[in-house]
Amino acid sequence: MRSAYLHIISDALGAIGAIVAGIVMYFFGWYVADPIISVVVSLLILRSAWGVVSNSFHILMEGTPITIDMDKVKQTLQSIEGVKDVHDLHIWTITSGLDSLSCHLLIDDTKDSQDILKQSIQRIEEEFHILHTTIQVEKSDLQHTDLRV
Ligand SMILES: [Zn+2]
Repeated sequence: MRSAYLHIISDALGAIGAIVAGIVMYFFGWYVADPIISVVVSLLILRSAWGVVSNSFHILMEGTPITIDMDKVKQTLQSIEGVKDVHDLHIWTITSGLDSLSCHLLIDDTKDSQDILKQSIQRIEEEFHILHTTIQVEKSDLQHTDLRV
């Protein structure tokens, strides 16, 4: 969608550039205006294209969204009463504006797992706007070291 939008903008920019170059050449006879404006428009198109390509690459490689601080997410989850450890935390982008999170929470044996799960989902939604979470809640009998993924 963004690249289609940028395509239209760059077409419009090209047309405006041609009109401006035409006016300058017609009234002032300054013919070098045409190549100069063409180069400027090309550079603007290249710059926006690079943005789209690098963003797409980041999403396809399932990189952590640049707007989200992993450490802050971990701290938020750890601050919930009863959470002893957060591990195997992954955050990635499914598509523009739709992020996904998965993690394991080690909780106190005496705590209600459903209650902690509910709080975790709410905090992640409210503070980081991640609407799709997959959280595995573990107690001491399920405790394990980080998965090597
Ligand atoms: Zn685990």
